[in-house]
Amino acid sequence: MNVKIKRALISVSDKTGVAEFAKKLAGFGVEIISTGGTAKCLSEAGLDVISIDSVTGFPEMMNGRVKTLHPKIHGGLLGLRDNKEHTDAMEQHDITPIDLVCVNLYPFEQTIAKSDCTFADAIENIDIGGPSMVRSAAKNNKFVTVVTDPAHYEEVLSEMQANDGCTTTQLRAKFAAAAFSLTANYDAAISKYLNSKQSNEFPDRVSLAMTKAAELRYGENPHQSGAFYRLAKKDEVSVGNARVLPGSTTDISFNNLLDVNAAFELVKEFTRPAAVVVKHLNPCGCAVDDDIKVAYEKAYLGDVVSAFGGIIALNRKVDAELATIIMESYARFGKANGASGFFAEVIIAPEYDKEALEIIRTLKGWGERVRLMETGPISRDSIDTSEYDVRCIVGGMLLQKRDLAGWEPENLTYPTKLKPTEQQLIDLELAWITAKHVKSNTITLVSGSKLVGVGAGQMNRVESGLIAFKMAGEKAKGSAMGSDAFFPFPDNIENAAKAGIACIVQPGGSKKDDEVIAKADELGIAMVFTGKRHFKH
Ligand code: 5GP
Repeated sequence: MNVKIKRALISVSDKTGVAEFAKKLAGFGVEIISTGGTAKCLSEAGLDVISIDSVTGFPEMMNGRVKTLHPKIHGGLLGLRDNKEHTDAMEQHDITPIDLVCVNLYPFEQTIAKSDCTFADAIENIDIGGPSMVRSAAKNNKFVTVVTDPAHYEEVLSEMQANDGCTTTQLRAKFAAAAFSLTANYDAAISKYLNSKQSNEFPDRVSLAMTKAAELRYGENPHQSGAFYRLAKKDEVSVGNARVLPGSTTDISFNNLLDVNAAFELVKEFTRPAAVVVKHLNPCGCAVDDDIKVAYEKAYLGDVVSAFGGIIALNRKVDAELATIIMESYARFGKANGASGFFAEVIIAPEYDKEALEIIRTLKGWGERVRLMETGPISRDSIDTSEYDVRCIVGGMLLQKRDLAGWEPENLTYPTKLKPTEQQLIDLELAWITAKHVKSNTITLVSGSKLVGVGAGQMNRVESGLIAFKMAGEKAKGSAMGSDAFFPFPDNIENAAKAGIACIVQPGGSKKDDEVIAKADELGIAMVFTGKRHFKH
């Protein structure tokens, strides 16, 4: 069926050739309706144009978001000319049929291809009214011609020329198919772009709205000044949900806060009762046990010398008994184990009971000085997965997703002939978790769920190993060793065997894994690969 084109709606972003096309349509006696920019372009070319707002009775509004979305337009496009109900509705609501729609869409893909395109630019370039008209016209192609490409202008005109101002069924069907391809591709480009923004974990621009929580006594050293800024708007001194207990001294230093952060991060890893002692960002003590008091005792005994002046973190409530044990650490078990005194800078715990606070605060010479921090319930589940790890360098900032990988039994592989026992696996887990929280290069030694040796921050892994073995001394015998990254050579394994290490956990993945495994087999050491690395720079 041929359909005479009497009224056309032209609304194009790409105005190439549109004035010529419209002139020729007008030459066939076609009435032209048009939207803002297009109407201007056509008028300037000397054409008579009916403005869209005179058809809809509404102004174009909201930056052009709403121009043609109106029943006067969509009724004119969708109404079936051979259906009485439709034609009655058109008559009743004063809807004039529109026989041809010429639309090309907001240039979404061209916009997002620009290097300075913002997200807001992209969103504003999602055409809504255009595709709606294209789809309405294409659906009703029995009667309506939809022209979506300047390359089609000539084809339409020559059909009209050949058919007394009419288009044919075939042409309308062909253009309708092209129209749906256009809108499908258009939406696909939008969905691809928006999905790519979803998976983009890092914002394009970061502005930090931080509030000064405290000016600190000094920075890392007394000749540097220091202050603490918090992300949240609170002006209290806190590290995550660890806040200085009201009534406790708020004289907390720059280095204290760094150490509190490190201790809190480690103690959060455990669900069993656990205690951590941190010095200079590294754990010198860490232990788990069914009883928090025993866990504390084991953590303290891990390295009584380093524990002096450390930060203690616990994941269970401090009651009177535990408070007494902490206060008397040196007298109870330190003296006999080489400690020359005891003092802790900060204690972090989920909660303190009244009696415990009384005991701590009334201890002369220390009670008034120790900073107490309260966290509320802590567990690995309470680790905030949404936070970034932020580090500053001169003139910039490094952002990474936090290292939230823990002990993943399902990912472990066992490359050596000797496999670890159940008990060894428990110690290997602690060796691995503590290694994650020690500065690289890291070697940790664990025996009986207690950290007994740490080699931290050395420039080669061999040296870190030697330090850990020396620190553990006799306690290294039969212990589980953790390494934050793979062994590049088998030399560490030889040293481990000399120190009496029974089993090792490490990521694996070295070019020399074969030699490392062969050495472990030769020396009777069981080894576990985690497949993940925990560098901490
Ligand atoms: P003009 O340059 O004529 O002001 O605007 C033409 C563009 O507007 C065309 O790309 C067309 O697809 C689009 N358009 C037409 N009606 C609407 C509408 O109601 N909403 C939006 N967002 N775009 C429309």
